Amino acid sequence: MTNKTIKLDDTLYRYVLDHSLREHPEQTALRTATASHRLANMEIAPEQGQFMALLVRLIGARNTIEIGTFTGYSALSVALALPADGHLLACDISREYTDVARPYWARAGVAHKIELVIAPALETLDARLAAGEAGRYDFAFIDADKTGYDAYYERCLKLLRYGGLIMIDNALWSGAVARPAQDADTRALQALNDKLHADARIDFSLLPLADGIGLARKH
Ligand code: CA
Repeated sequence: MTNKTIKLDDTLYRYVLDHSLREHPEQTALRTATASHRLANMEIAPEQGQFMALLVRLIGARNTIEIGTFTGYSALSVALALPADGHLLACDISREYTDVARPYWARAGVAHKIELVIAPALETLDARLAAGEAGRYDFAFIDADKTGYDAYYERCLKLLRYGGLIMIDNALWSGAVARPAQDADTRALQALNDKLHADARIDFSLLPLADGIGLARKH
């Protein structure tokens, strides 16, 4: 028994997956297809996708944002959890990677829920703010260039309704955030973690799930 977060070795991690994972067949297929990709570690962990889906259902999200879609596993996880008229604004700069996603979204029957915009995410988010969409979104997932996180967070905070949720990926960055930073990405994540810890605009939790998740509820 422990009152600290448990350490997961491979055996216990396997147990967690074996006793919790409930993937749609297209999620399994997409994960298998992405495993051989040279940037496969950019994909979220499957237990994280399931946790995102749970959060989306928990807050009754209909209108959601994703910054950093890659080959589409996280978007698929969220889209499957959204109601039939739900919407995901998926922002990415790579047509090559997101083209991998489309057939899986289609076969899972959720392609109509996903609006993929290929452009720098800040441009997309600023356009939505300029179009009067502040306060219209329920959930946002940030998983793109780390030095851009702070700007994405500020835009998402404006776009979210009160009670809306922002999930920030790679918040623990393989543990690098707890050591002196050697690079700009680590410095950016450290600065954002410090900022969120003290940010009075949100309720906050820093979770050691997958590569670390910052969870911020707008209040
Ligand atoms: Ca990530």
